[in-house]
Amino acid sequence: MALARPPILSLSSAELETWLGANDMPAYRRRQVWGWLARGAASFQEMHDVPKQLRTALERDFRITSLQPVAVSQADRALTTKTLFELEGGHSVEAVVMRYTDRSTLCISSQAGCPIGCPFCATGKFPFGRNLKAHEIVEQAVDTVRLLAVEDRRLSHVVFMGMGEPMANYQAVIESVRRFSNAELLGISPRRIVVSTSGLIPRIVQLAEEQLPVTLAISLHAARDELRDVLVPINRKYPVHDLVEAAQAYAAKTGRRVSYEWVLLADVNDTERDAKELGRLLRRKLAHVNLIPFNPVEDTPYRAPARAAIRRFKEMVEAQGLNVTVRDTRGREADAACGQLHERVMRSKVAVS
Ligand code: SAH
Ligand code: SF4
Repeated sequence: MALARPPILSLSSAELETWLGANDMPAYRRRQVWGWLARGAASFQEMHDVPKQLRTALERDFRITSLQPVAVSQADRALTTKTLFELEGGHSVEAVVMRYTDRSTLCISSQAGCPIGCPFCATGKFPFGRNLKAHEIVEQAVDTVRLLAVEDRRLSHVVFMGMGEPMANYQAVIESVRRFSNAELLGISPRRIVVSTSGLIPRIVQLAEEQLPVTLAISLHAARDELRDVLVPINRKYPVHDLVEAAQAYAAKTGRRVSYEWVLLADVNDTERDAKELGRLLRRKLAHVNLIPFNPVEDTPYRAPARAAIRRFKEMVEAQGLNVTVRDTRGREADAACGQLHERVMRSKVAVS
């Protein structure tokens, strides 16, 4: 069987220029092709200021993307779109785009499945699949640019909050961030990119050295080890005080405020005791707390708190002197918390097989 043509974004800038040279084309054409991809081109043929001969050679040797959309779901009156993509080899991942008046944010996946296994998370319930390659991460954004271009919208923000633990696929994630921020490709400033992690301390230390001022989000969910050991199992290896120390070193080094995520689980981490422990942990730090109402996942023992309990917890955390917001529940109907569309599709696959 002939090997499939590689996706164009699997080539680095230097590799694409070498290919151009081998096809008697000047290196600057690389920038032109990337420009078309960044504007959402769906085929090489539509790159009309690229010579016909080059378009044909590109088509012969490459594909635009390696991702295959297999399910799409809409929510919030079509302001949220979630796509499940099949990767080469059969695993699937999801990406969710959320449209706002002044920006469009894409939530992307870095792994098929996740090895961390948080018990409230749909992604953690499936066996780990594999790491995504950098181009597979970038293609989620390029495919979204295409979707948004039709609506005259630009992709402005990217958050690594889909499936997977980005810090467990470090090199590919860093390479994809460099491509997102490359002005010749998507031109999204690292400040508009959020990398969310369950807390792999050595990678946070490494990230601080990259000269890449992305916003770091720490999935905290509990301020005491005893509870965090259960909710975020990696805590047994990297305990919460060490984690906050590493995150604050990141803040000091980059000048970027760290965002601490807190999935609110009724009667588990929404009590006065939790608010006080959180206060003790983060007071006077360059930190922001983001409360995320739990998006219910089947076969977990957790429930979402009532609206009044969410408000109460927010007030208790504010009373501790912390900066705190409640994340909107965008995409709930689209199964938009990590892994949920994937879970529904997997369940239906199991049901028919
Ligand atoms: N693995 C990384 C990034 C992906 S998860 C991490 O854990 O940070 C992105 C965020 O979604 C995390 O804060 C995670 O705890 C949260 N999350 C997972 N499942 C959720 C659910 N069912 N409801 C609400 N938030 C959830
Ligand atoms: Fe993995 Fe994040 Fe889900 Fe935990 S919350 S299982 S780290 S994707």
